[in-house]
Amino acid sequence: MKIGILALQGDFEAHRKALERAGAEAVEVRTAEDLETVDGLVIPGGESTTMLKLLRAEGLFERLAQFGKHKPVFGTCAGAILLANEVHSPRQESLGLMNLTVERNAYGRQIDSRIVQLRSDEFPEPLEAVFIRAPIIRGVGPEARVLIEYDGDPVLVEQGRHMVATFHPELTADSRVHSRFLDKVRQG
Ligand code: GLN
Repeated sequence: MKIGILALQGDFEAHRKALERAGAEAVEVRTAEDLETVDGLVIPGGESTTMLKLLRAEGLFERLAQFGKHKPVFGTCAGAILLANEVHSPRQESLGLMNLTVERNAYGRQIDSRIVQLRSDEFPEPLEAVFIRAPIIRGVGPEARVLIEYDGDPVLVEQGRHMVATFHPELTADSRVHSRFLDKVRQG
């Protein structure tokens, strides 16, 4: 089992280390050929507008949309914005792999980033969540399952084989979120 990390822009290096800590073989993905070798893909945080431009320039946008029809994709922060099917503030195109509406930079400029401890039925032990210019998930489809909320908004959501986090699980030592994605990849 081999996990790819989209490595066009953003904090892909931290995800590679986090995936390795969780016991996976992880490789960076920059081309359509790279994508063909992996069983699942992580789209990291960064700047979703820049990532979109680079995806278009590499001819990878359609390939990724196709990949997501058969294989698991995990998007964090900017990656979550790319997986959604509706993006606001401002509107921009996205892969539409999950039935989610997201609002970019929704916590406002004053509170650019924050670290909070979260728990839920799925994560009974506190999980440290790092938010950096994060989007807020404003709506989820009936097929989505909310795994953790912060302040009443979903921040970790799965839908079938895909998963998104609006925070950065790759920046903490806790492997539970990455492990959950690895389970999805194992299940196919
Ligand atoms: N603000 C970024 C965006 O809108 C996301 C920030 C992040 O990935 N940490 O794309």
